[in-house]
Amino acid sequence: MNTTRSQELYAKANLYTPGGVHSATRNVEPHLVFTRGEGAYIYDADGNKYLDYQAAFGPYILGHNHPYVNNKVIEAISRTDMFGVGSTDLEIILSEKIVKHVPSADQVLLCNSGSEATYHAIRLSRAVTKRNKIIKFQGCYHGWHDYVARNMLSAWDMIGKRDPGSAGMLDDAIDNTLVCTYNDLEDVERTLKANEGEVAAIIIEPIPHNIGCIMPQPGFLEGLRSLCDANGTILIFDEVITGFRHSIGGYQQVAGVTPDLTTMGKAMANGYPIAAIAGKKELMERFNTKPGGDCWFAGTYNGHAVGTAASIATIELMENEPVHEHIFRLGEKMRSGLREIHNRLDMDVFVAGFGSVFTTYFMNFEPKHYAELQHNDADFYVKYRHKLIERGIYKMPMNIKRNHVSYSHTDEDIDHTLDVIETVLKEMLNK
Ligand code: PMP
Repeated sequence: MNTTRSQELYAKANLYTPGGVHSATRNVEPHLVFTRGEGAYIYDADGNKYLDYQAAFGPYILGHNHPYVNNKVIEAISRTDMFGVGSTDLEIILSEKIVKHVPSADQVLLCNSGSEATYHAIRLSRAVTKRNKIIKFQGCYHGWHDYVARNMLSAWDMIGKRDPGSAGMLDDAIDNTLVCTYNDLEDVERTLKANEGEVAAIIIEPIPHNIGCIMPQPGFLEGLRSLCDANGTILIFDEVITGFRHSIGGYQQVAGVTPDLTTMGKAMANGYPIAAIAGKKELMERFNTKPGGDCWFAGTYNGHAVGTAASIATIELMENEPVHEHIFRLGEKMRSGLREIHNRLDMDVFVAGFGSVFTTYFMNFEPKHYAELQHNDADFYVKYRHKLIERGIYKMPMNIKRNHVSYSHTDEDIDHTLDVIETVLKEMLNK
């Protein structure tokens, strides 16, 4: 594989940008520079073509440069880029769709990134409950801000300890964020009891896709709902990955558990920048977008035509075409194909996934929470990923993240991917 041009450009990128990339998790080998995306494929600067399963960490649910979405964006920006005064027709159309589809959404506010959405959800929870503390779960990711950037992908010996994810975080923010174990309801109950009357919110990825695809055990999400109700604590589902991907109403619709607040992003606009916070009317009306509201919510680019038009188009396609049926079927085809390959090669590994999402944990049992992932052979995955990239299959940098099938992937793409995977695994295992 020739990557000469990528290497030249990457060296140049490093002159102007620390590490040559504009988001922390993008600095991974091989350092490729990408120049084009179309459907299920991305292309690097040397013209190499890859079947893309990373999907930019989740937004691409329809595929790259989807013509329906692009045309709606072009149509919108030919008459407006942004007004930034009053409201726009596009914002109203999109808000109506979100309220129609997402069970917890009586009302919605648009912003630009998932981090902004979780920030606002937590601040609103504090405003409403007049409490300071929140609970998050080890391994879950909710963005880069101080309220949530602790105990993310912690080193194994930092599990259960104070693990700020960044230098420069406020001590108060770190210490007011309590950390529980995913799928461990008793841990949550204990923590609420030990901090009685002090916990404003529980924030959770209903499926923690930032550590792959660990499924909620029966009763876990329902249990969180009951504990929140009993303790006057606000339940926030961070559906930035699961929202619109696992159903048009998010994973809350699949699970039948309705949170008080929901954050959304990524798949809601197929790669264009937009995010949202939605929830119960009496909570949402505390934001000062409504006169009398006492919780600050603002943003110059909120409701920008580009993201808003893209989101309307993406949701329209989900409404009118069998998007979920397709990605769920291909996701299952991928997972069952992987299991067959692993069986043939006598590999005792665990294939996880839901809907369009899949990952292979290189460990011999189903993980139920983050700490169990120490049994996963991360080094094996890195070598495996490199070999797949050399053969035109692009997967996530870590297997404890996850991979995504889009509406642009075809049966042939999955068959081809499985063939390549079997060849690579045979080579790695000398079989
Ligand atoms: N929540 C979840 C579940 C996420 O996966 C992410 C991003 N990976 C975020 C929040 C933050 O979103 P953004 O990167 O758009 O700020």
